[in-house]
Amino acid sequence: ARAQAMEVDESPEVTYDDIGGIDEQIREVKEAVEDPLSSPELFEEVGVDPPSGVLLYGPPGTGKTMLAKAVANQTDATFIKMAGSELVQKFIGEGARLVRDLFSLAAEREPAVIFIDEIDAVASKRTDSKTSGDAEVQRTMMQLLNEMDGFEERGDVRIIAATNRFDMLDEAILRPGRFDRLIEVPKPNEEGRRRILEIHTSRMNVADDVDLDEFADELDGFSGADIASLTTEAGMFAIRDDRTEVKMDDFEAAREKLAEAEEDDIVGEF
Ligand code: ATP
Repeated sequence: ARAQAMEVDESPEVTYDDIGGIDEQIREVKEAVEDPLSSPELFEEVGVDPPSGVLLYGPPGTGKTMLAKAVANQTDATFIKMAGSELVQKFIGEGARLVRDLFSLAAEREPAVIFIDEIDAVASKRTDSKTSGDAEVQRTMMQLLNEMDGFEERGDVRIIAATNRFDMLDEAILRPGRFDRLIEVPKPNEEGRRRILEIHTSRMNVADDVDLDEFADELDGFSGADIASLTTEAGMFAIRDDRTEVKMDDFEAAREKLAEAEEDDIVGEF
């Protein structure tokens, strides 16, 4: 079960340069996660504890997973990802066991960055329903908090969680010593979209008529993930038309296609 539920990447390839439009968030992640791993003596000399856990929150597809991978890359740490939904298990104690496995694997592989995506799946505010499933989810969350409380002795393990539903979170996980550093990762503004377009077209054979500045202006509401699929789609339009160069028309066609898909609710929430 361990192998299925976790994604382990010894050396993730994502770098900070691959992430566009969230420079301030990169800076905060460096400070909260990278510095404690690369210069622990700094915190010791100053006499402060680094943040225990970092919570990245914001809409889907804005680069939260990329940030966690980039920091692992930068610190030569093993990246260990677990989806919160995987921690919601049928059998009693199974979720808690996965949490223990997660932390013991991280301790074996340190330095390590643990990334728990969709943390809301196990850390939502208590609902009214007193179903047993709910109690089991509570137990899993308690196990997670226990592991984090015993953190200091764990050395080079940092934990990052992410959610698209910040408002749903149980405040217990945000207390000092737990996820006590909150970093909002929003959708990109025009300049950010421009940078993300640049990143995702850097290997593409783009025609001279393509004006990324102008195009970025048209992509209000697009996330980084939307822009990534848009550039792929634009390339597909060129291929379909037997061209090896991607033109402005292809980008426009891709934008319209994605906007339509959005209306039909095929693409994620905007
Ligand atoms: P979710 O909340 O859905 O898990 P996320 O915020 O973790 O999403 P990522 O998984 O990091 O989003 O991004 C998905 C893909 O979208 C990336 O692999 C990348 O191609 C693209 N992408 C997203 N955000 C950015 C960004 N800021 N810069 C460049 N590419 C991005």
